[in-house]
Amino acid sequence: MNIETKDADRNDAPTASNFIRNIIDDDNRSGKWGSRVETRFPPEPNGYLHIGHAKSICLNFGIAQSYGGVCHLRFDDTNPEKESFEYVESIVDAVKWLGFEWTKENEEHLYFASDYYDKLYEFAELLITRGKAYVDSQTAEEIRANRGSATEAGTPSRYRERSVDENLDLFRRMKAGEFKEGEHVLRAKIDMASPNFNMRDPVIYRIRFAHHYRTGDTWCVYPMYDYTHCISDALENITHSLCTLEFEDHRPLYDWILDELASAGIFTRPLPQQIEFSRLNLTYAITSKRKLLQLVTEGHVDGWDDPRMPTIVGVRRRGFTPEGIKLFCERIGITKVDSWIDMSVFEGALRDDLDDKAPRTAAVLDPLKLIIDNYPEGQSDECSAPVHPHHPERGNRTFPLTRELWIERDDFTETPPKGYFRLFPGNKVRLRYGYVIECTGAEKDEHGNVIAVHCNYFPDSRSGTEGANNYKVKGNIHWLSVAHAKPAEVRVYDRLFREPQPDAGGRDFLEALNPDSKRVMNAYLEPGAENAEPEQRFQFERHGYFVADRYDSKPGKPVFNRIVGLRDTWGKPA
Ligand code: ATP
Ligand code: MG
Repeated sequence: MNIETKDADRNDAPTASNFIRNIIDDDNRSGKWGSRVETRFPPEPNGYLHIGHAKSICLNFGIAQSYGGVCHLRFDDTNPEKESFEYVESIVDAVKWLGFEWTKENEEHLYFASDYYDKLYEFAELLITRGKAYVDSQTAEEIRANRGSATEAGTPSRYRERSVDENLDLFRRMKAGEFKEGEHVLRAKIDMASPNFNMRDPVIYRIRFAHHYRTGDTWCVYPMYDYTHCISDALENITHSLCTLEFEDHRPLYDWILDELASAGIFTRPLPQQIEFSRLNLTYAITSKRKLLQLVTEGHVDGWDDPRMPTIVGVRRRGFTPEGIKLFCERIGITKVDSWIDMSVFEGALRDDLDDKAPRTAAVLDPLKLIIDNYPEGQSDECSAPVHPHHPERGNRTFPLTRELWIERDDFTETPPKGYFRLFPGNKVRLRYGYVIECTGAEKDEHGNVIAVHCNYFPDSRSGTEGANNYKVKGNIHWLSVAHAKPAEVRVYDRLFREPQPDAGGRDFLEALNPDSKRVMNAYLEPGAENAEPEQRFQFERHGYFVADRYDSKPGKPVFNRIVGLRDTWGKPA
């Protein structure tokens, strides 16, 4: 362990070592930044955050937290067409819900790249003046054609040697709106023969007559991502700029721009350091904003916050906890190797978090009536069970046993397959926390469907009494008193895709949609659970973890979502 934990806050932060922490430790030892650590999470507000972003959030905010630094929330909003306040709000909510904050010592570190438009523009003029940028008037096709190839250098634009004055004049007129979109662009003057395409005079400004959600129609030239990002980092005094591996080839450009501006006296050294890590790919999920948008707009799911979506709002609604998500991010760690993480790792972290937290209760999801013929009508037994089997201090719950009970439909069969230990005629099972019963037969409707199961109970077999030990049964089923059970809607969610890599190899991910990813059941709950507050979680014994739906559930009118089953059964025969 290489992290000091000086106060209570820091103890919560994930502290597993990784190569990024090693770099920071080295910097702290050499005194590069004093001991300052400043990171940023820089989403573009063009969609809802997903579980991949959670990895970046946990990394950036987690590092800042554990080194006593600060992580900025910065909206990288330089694409006017796709961005909106709706997305900004959802991103703010998601980061807060995960339990992170961007205020330190009363200073709020919430930033927008669009607040830097004036500076970005000013620095672009400075680069022009210093002969480091030029206005190119080739068409987009010409620019593309002249980029060269992996084996051939690019061809310099015929406009590359324009004078500083001409460049300044044209750039100012671009800003003033005198030209059409695509007529001119501003390019950094670097090296058309560089083996790295990103260094072949990248475009840093383009004309767009688009309304920006924050700056309105003030601007008709917009800076490109690569130009904006490093400057935003430097303006905010970011020390370590952590991004995903696809930006590795952009790092020389990041460094070039900051180096040029430092030479011009704008920034002081040391300059922020870009460090890349592998992105999260999760099986049975999709982490492309564009494809997630398609699922929503084409109605394959019920919105961004559909509990099957891998968005933060989706997993929240599904009942996943911030702690479970953080545990998952800790477990997968941070590396430089791109790989796929199995969905079962994500679900496992959730189970590990919920197992300890969730109070136990009973629910019958697919009810079938069980009648105890020798149990007197009007009688009832109060049964009791622990709220949590490993936490006796959380107390007990009580519920009545009566003559007519609800049991799960699949806890009865007329013709038991080998190894079936639950109810079938002639077999004995224990009613959890109650009596041993022996099945005597079933009633059917005119179509041959079983509508009720009959049994007799053994009055001396009650759980917790001496007689209980005289009965050896292999089956143990849960139940609810018909007269007392509370009705509820239960939504049983499963994986959205049938295949682990639904969009692999560029194929149509919609073909891999799981048609049974949502089933709605009219279920019964143990008395008490119907008063759950929205987002309250339980373990329904034998079924898994469930949450009262954030939006649709009301105390007294419950709607539950299945978060995850008790164990990993995916792909295994039921
Ligand atoms: P876009 O295609 O719109 O650029 P994006 O997923 O890159 O989508 P951003 O809003 O740019 O979205 O991402 C914000 C931050 O989250 C970036 O630093 C990005 O590297 C990181 N990030 C995005 N997806 C993942 C992922 N799957 N795993 C880890 N980090 C991710
Ligand atoms: Mg991005």
